[in-house]
Amino acid sequence: MSNVPVAVVTGSNKGIGLAIVRALCKQFPGDVYLTSRDSGRGEAAVAQLQAEGLRPLFHQLDIDDLQSIRALRDFLKEKYGGLNVLVNNAGIAFKVNDTTPFAIQAEVTMKTNFFGTKNICTELLPLMKPYGRVVNVSSMVSSSALGRCSQELQKKFRSDTITEDELVQLMTKFVEDTKNSVHEKEGWPNTAYGVSKIGVTVLSRIQARMLNEKRKGDHILLNACCPGWVRTDMAGPQATKSPDEGAETPVYLALLPSSADAPHGQFVSDKTVRTW
Ligand code: NAP
Repeated sequence: MSNVPVAVVTGSNKGIGLAIVRALCKQFPGDVYLTSRDSGRGEAAVAQLQAEGLRPLFHQLDIDDLQSIRALRDFLKEKYGGLNVLVNNAGIAFKVNDTTPFAIQAEVTMKTNFFGTKNICTELLPLMKPYGRVVNVSSMVSSSALGRCSQELQKKFRSDTITEDELVQLMTKFVEDTKNSVHEKEGWPNTAYGVSKIGVTVLSRIQARMLNEKRKGDHILLNACCPGWVRTDMAGPQATKSPDEGAETPVYLALLPSSADAPHGQFVSDKTVRTW
């Protein structure tokens, strides 16, 4: 088994994820895994970074596929005996002018952004080594969507006692409510991406609390973040940050020094803790 520290970035064949791998290859003292659901796209991205003189490794990972997640888990356990850095970056967003019915957009977006991220965490968080760092890439849109939820939902999403099961029930209810065309009546904002990212931010708060309760002595730090508005296939060419700039906050959180005991369980943008 290798004693080399290891970092994994989900959805890193392009966009912000690729830029996070690039930065980690330069700054993280260990093996850095670029992952992609499609091996061809992943290997092409590895070749691109190799042409820049960097040495990322590759592993296939589709966060929608439990078998794929478990194959990565078993590989990490066997080769490294765990994991030091996990960046949950993979995510999707329908374009504003997409004509797919809203209920389908809600189901598909929730499946990857919330349930995929949750499933990765369920399988990989137990592997995190002491002083491990976990970064869940959410979005400022989670904050703005929270502000447009009913007071009752806002209270639940800001609660310091909400459980993962309760959060799963709420995310499932949103999708059901969109199918029955009652989501607005039930207090949800009209944004599938925004609600899925509320799920990612709240999940991070819950997971940090669980780490405090169960693994306090391991000094693991887990946070949600927004990378900013970044020029990628998702956000388009008008966005203000380059992918490398977008990677800065996630990489800062991934590389918090072992002497740090904060931030933890926070929502961070521009390297600054934001009020949830
Ligand atoms: P992007 O260019 O569209 O890249 C998304 C990445 O996620 C791609 O590598 C994509 O792979 C991957 N992915 C999607 N579904 C996946 C799955 N089921 N399994 C594994 N990988 C999957 O988007 P981006 O702008 O870099 O976004 C990265 C993250 O930042 C997302 O979580 C996004 O919500 C968040 N974010 C972005 C912005 C922004 O302004 N760009 C702002 C706030 C938050 P394929 O190539 O196979 O599709």
